[in-house]
Amino acid sequence: MDIITAAMIIPGGALLGIIILSFLDYHLRNNSVPYFILRHSKFFARKYVSDRPLHRYLRSVGIATPLYLIGLFSILAINITVLAISKGRVVLTKRSGEAVLINLILLLVCGRPNVFTEHVRVSQQFKNFTHRWLSIVAMAECAVHLTAALSSIRPGTRPFTSAAGRAGLTAAIGIAVLGVFSLPFVRRHAYELFLNIHISLTVIIIAAIFLHLDPFNFSEPSIILLIIAGSLCALLIAARIGISLWNRAKVSIVEENGLLKANIMLARPRRVCAGQYVFLRVPSTSALSINESHPFFIASWDQDEKMKNKARNITALIQRREGFTRLLRAQPTAVRAFVEGPYGESLLAADYGNVILFASGIGVAAHLGCIRQLLNALDRGPTRTQMISLLWEVDEVEPWDAAIKMVHDLLDQDAHRCDRETVDWFEMQNNATGRRPNLINSRCRFVFQYTMFVRHHPLAGESRKSRSGRQHWNFKAMDAASTLGQELAKVGLDGQRKRTLISVSATSGMTDVIRSAYVRTLEVEEAGREEVVLHTYDFHPEELPISIGAVDVKV
Ligand SMILES: Cc1cc2nc3c(=O)[nH]c(=O)nc-3n(C[C@H](O)[C@H](O)[C@H](O)COP(=O)(O)OP(=O)(O)OC[C@H]3O[C@@H](n4cnc5c(N)ncnc54)[C@H](O)[C@@H]3O)c2cc1C
Repeated sequence: MDIITAAMIIPGGALLGIIILSFLDYHLRNNSVPYFILRHSKFFARKYVSDRPLHRYLRSVGIATPLYLIGLFSILAINITVLAISKGRVVLTKRSGEAVLINLILLLVCGRPNVFTEHVRVSQQFKNFTHRWLSIVAMAECAVHLTAALSSIRPGTRPFTSAAGRAGLTAAIGIAVLGVFSLPFVRRHAYELFLNIHISLTVIIIAAIFLHLDPFNFSEPSIILLIIAGSLCALLIAARIGISLWNRAKVSIVEENGLLKANIMLARPRRVCAGQYVFLRVPSTSALSINESHPFFIASWDQDEKMKNKARNITALIQRREGFTRLLRAQPTAVRAFVEGPYGESLLAADYGNVILFASGIGVAAHLGCIRQLLNALDRGPTRTQMISLLWEVDEVEPWDAAIKMVHDLLDQDAHRCDRETVDWFEMQNNATGRRPNLINSRCRFVFQYTMFVRHHPLAGESRKSRSGRQHWNFKAMDAASTLGQELAKVGLDGQRKRTLISVSATSGMTDVIRSAYVRTLEVEEAGREEVVLHTYDFHPEELPISIGAVDVKV
C-alpha cells in the first residue's frame, strides 16, 4: 500500500467519523437516539458534547460546541500525523502534496447541500465548519509542500521549468486566490463572485494537481481510489444540475411593504418537512440570474393527503437584500423558476409537548412551517403538542406585515380547531346532559401564542396583550435570556412538564445568548426536571440598519 492509498483511506475514515458524529449530533438534538436507552448517558452526551457552548472566542470562529472541537481535532490530528511521520524532505514534499489533493476532494463532498449528504443527516452547519477547516489545512499543507519542494532545489537551478512544475505553481496560486475570495468579507458583499470563482478555481486546481502528480508512479488501488473520488464529485455536480433542471416550477411574487411572498408551484410534488429550505432560481430576474440559486425557508405549503403528504405549492418569504433579491420583481402572473431541494434537517417538533420558537427578523420564516405542521397534525387528531410559543424580535412592524398576517392565519387555524372541538364536545355533552356549550372555556385549548418584540416604535417601553392572551406585543428589544427563563417557568408553572423543544432561528448574537442561557437549563434538568432540547438553525439573519417610524399595532 503506497502513501496515497493510505492517505485516501485515512481521510475517508475521518469523513466517516465526522458523518457518524454529526449523525449522533442530529439525533441527540432531535431526541431520537434509539440506542441511548439510558436517560443519563443521553443527557451526559447532550450536556458535555453536543449542546454545551464553548468560550465566545471559540464560538466566533465557528467552534460552537465540544462536538465541533472533536471534529476539528480529528482533522488536525490526521493531517499533522501524515506530515509528521514523513522522513526526509522528498517524502514530506510528496505527502504534503498528496494530502492537499485528498483534502480538496473531501472539500467537494462537504460543500453545498446535496442529495447524498442530505440522506446521512449531516447538518449544513457542521458541513460548513468541516469545509472551512479542511480548506485551511489544505492551504497550510500547500505552503509546506511549496517550501519543501523549493528548498530541495539546488542553487542555480530554475524552478518551474517542467510542465509538472508549472502545473504545481498554477495549483498553488489557485489555492491562494481561492483562499482570498473565500474570506467572509467577499462572501458577504459579493456572494456570486465568491461562488463562481470558487467553482471555476476548484476545477482548475484539481486539474493542475493531477497534471502535477503525473510523473509520480501510483499503485493500481491508488488510481482506482482517485478515479472513484473524481467520479463521485462529477456525479454530485451532475446530480445538482440535473435535479435543479428536472424540478421545474412556476413562481408568482407579491410584495407587501418590501417583504416578498413567493408562491411556488412545483411541476412535481415534493415531500416537505418543517424547517426545510429550497434553492430558488428565477431566470427572468436578470441576464445573469440563470446562474444564481438562493436558499429560502419553506414558510408554508399545501398538504394533499392524496399525494402521500407531498406538496405541490410552497410559499417562501423573501427579504430584499442587495443582489438577486433586490432585482426580484413582484409578478402576480407566474413565471418560470427552478427549485432545488428541499434540503435541511426536518425538525421533529411533534415529539415535544412544549415548543418554544425564538426568531429575529426573517428567521421567523423557518418557524412558520413548523407551527403549520404542528397545527395540521392537531387538526387531524390529538398529538403531544400542548403549547407552541413564538417569540419574535423585529426592528419595526411595517416591513413584516405579510409575515404577521401569516402568523395570524396560524392563530385562526388554532381557533377554528378549538371551535370545532367545542362543538364536538357540546354534542357529546348535549347528548348526555342537554347543557349549552361553554365556548369561552373551549379557548383554553389554544396551543399557539406569540410574543412580538419591536425595537423601534412610538410606544417604546410599553407592552400590550390581547384579550385572549395569545398575542403579546412588547415595544422594546428582547432580552433573550430572561425571556427563555420566563417561558420555561411558565411551562413548569402550568404543570405541563412535558418534553420541551427550544428552536432558534435568530441572529448569531441572540443564538449565542440563548445557547448560554440554555446551559443553566441543563443544570436544572439534571436536578430532575423534564427534558429540554435546544435546536439552532444554520441560518442567522443579519442585524440590519434600522430606520425609525412604524404603523400602529392593534392587538
Ligand atoms: C438555509 C438558509 C435559509 C434562508 N432562508 C431565507 C428566507 O426564508 N428568507 C429570506 O429572505 N432569506 C433567507 N435566507 C437568506 C437568503 O438566502 C439571502 O438573503 C439571499 O440569498 C440574498 O440574496 P442576494 O443576492 O440579494 O444577497 P446579497 O445582498 O448579495 O447578500 C446578502 C447576504 O446573503 C448571502 N447570500 C447571497 N447569496 C447567497 C446564496 N446563494 N446562498 C447563501 N447565502 C447567500 C451573502 O453572503 C450575504 O451575507 C436563507 C439563507 C440560508 C442559508
